Amino acid sequence: MKNVLEQIESCTECEVCMEVCPTYQITGEELFSPMYRLQTVREVLEDGEVSAQMVESLYNCPKCMVCETICPMEIEITQVVDAGRRGLVERDLGPLERGTKIIDQIFEKGNAVNGDPSKRLEWLPEEFPRKESETLLYLGCLPSYLVKDAATSSYLVLKRLGIDFMILEDEGCCGTYVYEAGNVDLARELFQKNVDRFRGLGIKRLIVPCNGCLKCFKWFYPEVLGEFPFQISHMVEVIYEALRENRSLLQKVTRTLIYQDPCRLARGEKMTEEPRELLAWCGAEVRDTELSREQAPCCGSGGGIRSLYRDLSTEMASRLLKMAPGEIVVSPCPFCTFQLRSTSKAKEIGKEVVYFSKIVLDSLKD
Ligand code: SF4
Ligand code: SF4
Repeated sequence: MKNVLEQIESCTECEVCMEVCPTYQITGEELFSPMYRLQTVREVLEDGEVSAQMVESLYNCPKCMVCETICPMEIEITQVVDAGRRGLVERDLGPLERGTKIIDQIFEKGNAVNGDPSKRLEWLPEEFPRKESETLLYLGCLPSYLVKDAATSSYLVLKRLGIDFMILEDEGCCGTYVYEAGNVDLARELFQKNVDRFRGLGIKRLIVPCNGCLKCFKWFYPEVLGEFPFQISHMVEVIYEALRENRSLLQKVTRTLIYQDPCRLARGEKMTEEPRELLAWCGAEVRDTELSREQAPCCGSGGGIRSLYRDLSTEMASRLLKMAPGEIVVSPCPFCTFQLRSTSKAKEIGKEVVYFSKIVLDSLKD
C-alpha cells in the first residue's frame, strides 16, 4: 500500500472523480465525493476537526472503486478511505453505532447478518458430509443465510464437476465487515483465528462464492496478518477452468441474461469476460447493463453502507437495475444478488436476479 498522506498530497483537485462517484451523484453533497473524502482523511489522520458529516462521508462510501479507474494521479482512493476509517476508530469517532452492533453479532453468532447459527446449514441439500479435503468451499454469511440458492447451487456444481472439497459445519465469518468498519485490532483477532483453524485442518486452498470474502481473504488478511498462506479462488474461476475444455458437459438453454459486473470482481480483479463466456456456454444470449465492466455501476451494498445508509444504498441498486435491458439479471456476487433482489421487490422494478452458479447448474447434463 502506498503512503496514505503522500497519496492525498498528490491529488491535483482536478475534480474528474466527482463526475463518476455515485454517492456524490445521488446526494449532491461535495463532502460525499472522492476528492473531498481525501481531504477528510487528512483531517482525521492529522488530528484536525472532524464533523459528523465528515465521519458520514467515510462510512457512506461503498468503496466501488469507480473513482480509481478515472483518477489521473492513480490515487488508491478506497485504500485512503480505509485508512480514514481506521483513523476514526483510533480517535473514537468510529465505528458508528449500527456498525458496532453488527461487529458484536459477528463475534457472538459467527455471522454478519444476524443469522441463527443452528440454521447455518439449511441450504445444504443432503446430510452434512463428514469429509476432509485440502480444498475448502467457504460459503460466507450471505449465501449461508440470505441467498441460500447461491450456496446450494455452488455446492452442487462443484460436486457435479467432480471437484474434491470439504465444507465446515460452523464456518464463522471472514471478518470483512470488521475490517471495513476500521476496527483493525478486532479484525486481526478474527483473521488469525480463521487462519489457525484452516491450517489445523490441513487446508491448502479456499473456494469462495462471495466477492466480499474474496477481497477480504486475498487483500485484507495479508495486509493485517502479513500473510494468507492459502490459495484462494472465486467460484467463477473454478467453474470456468473446469468447463473450458469440457463444454460438452453443458446443454444449451436458450434465454437472454443480463450480466452484472460486481465492483470487486470487475474493477478489483479485472474478471469480466470469464463469467460472460460461461453464461454463453450455457446457451444464453448475454447482454450488458448500460454501463458495464470497468464502468459498471455499484449495487450499493459494499463497504458496509447497506446497513448504515439504506436509502442511499437502495437508490444505487435501483439505478443499476434500471440500466439492465432485460428481465433476468445474473450476478456472480451473493451480496449484489441479495441487494438487487430486495430492491427490485421493494421498488417494484420487476427484475429476477439469479446467482450465476444456478445458471450453470441448470445447464449441466445429468
Ligand atoms: S469508491 Fe465509489 S463511492 Fe467511494 S469515493 Fe470512489 S466513486 Fe465515490
Ligand atoms: S481524480 Fe484524482 S487527482 Fe483528480 S480530484 Fe479526484 S482524486 Fe484528486
